[in-house]
Amino acid sequence: MIAPGSTLGILGGGQLGRMTGQAARSLGYDFVVFEPQDHCPAGHIAGLEINAKYSDRAALELLANSSDVVTYEFENVPVEATHALEKRVTLHPRPEILHICQNREREKNFLRDNDIPCAPFAIVDSLSDLENALATIGTPSVLKTAAFGYDGKGQLKISQENPDTAAVWEQFGKHRAVLEGWMDFSMEISVLVAANEQGEISTFPVAENIHTNHILDYSIVPARISEDLQRAAEALAKDIARKLGLVGLLGVELFVLRDGTLAVNELAPRPHNSGHYTLDACVTSQFEQFVRAVCGLPLGSTKLLSPVTMVNILGDAWIGRDPDFAELLKHPEAKLHLYGKAQARPGRKMGHFTVLADTADASYQLAQDLKTKL
Ligand code: AMP
Repeated sequence: MIAPGSTLGILGGGQLGRMTGQAARSLGYDFVVFEPQDHCPAGHIAGLEINAKYSDRAALELLANSSDVVTYEFENVPVEATHALEKRVTLHPRPEILHICQNREREKNFLRDNDIPCAPFAIVDSLSDLENALATIGTPSVLKTAAFGYDGKGQLKISQENPDTAAVWEQFGKHRAVLEGWMDFSMEISVLVAANEQGEISTFPVAENIHTNHILDYSIVPARISEDLQRAAEALAKDIARKLGLVGLLGVELFVLRDGTLAVNELAPRPHNSGHYTLDACVTSQFEQFVRAVCGLPLGSTKLLSPVTMVNILGDAWIGRDPDFAELLKHPEAKLHLYGKAQARPGRKMGHFTVLADTADASYQLAQDLKTKL
């Protein structure tokens, strides 16, 4: 166990790192952040902010020497950085998990090899691969960049029945990709699962996620699905965590298909945007659980204290004028979280708010109303 009073180091300095650092500080840990961009959101609350490239061996050494345990807050950290670190300091989750989750091809292969339900897929690296893949998977389908995709970036939906494959391949940019069958889903949900080295494993209540322009807009909790399906999603997330050998936190994004079955869309070995609701609505937040998991503390209760809806606040709200938070702040059951980002850009996650209510429906309704008043 890495006891309170020790130092948690984190690769990546965005809002996920910031909220993790806040949770670490509450538990009595010091906090060090490593992030290429200076003045990062996590840097504001870190005891030490190291600004260097992920390939900078001396800077990684400084992180290792300054930390008792190291983790990461986003999956595009080069895996080599974690390999260099694990030789010098305890690091969770293990680099292989990062390696799998930062690449769709490896992630999909992991899911298939472990009999975890996901969309039918094929790996595509040339025009002829694409033609073959379309012949088996058919349309509609979606071509996704194998590496470094997020929030729907690097994706191309193929809808027409006999597409001009050469034109599609050209438009996509001719790079290695995964062609996925289009899933006819009734809902998108996610489950966060935490595991520590002692073998404890725990999930948070299932979130129902609504995306706008491929970016998470609302998370509604509890998800408006049957108890059985909630239990099935939680069991699936635990199964994945065990098969990965997780120590840390993992976000599992799933589709609820029209026939009532589940299919995994994506895995994220870190806190997840759809888990922000836990800050205000659960006994233990996802960030505290993450700290507990990587430090080897007992996991906290994930009990939901109230139905809740979380809303992302994007940089778009700053275009032309600053947002007005007065109505939101006035509401007794609403909580505002801003990430301290100096520059607002369209689509950039600047903060979020949550609204508690007696039912999930009521919290969602209220959240929509309050969003229009920003
Ligand atoms: P991703 O970046 O893979 O999480 O995809 C972003 C969003 O695109 C998802 O949250 C879904 O709304 C949609 N999407 C992605 N893959 C599929 C699929 N195979 N079938 C249907 N919708 C998808």
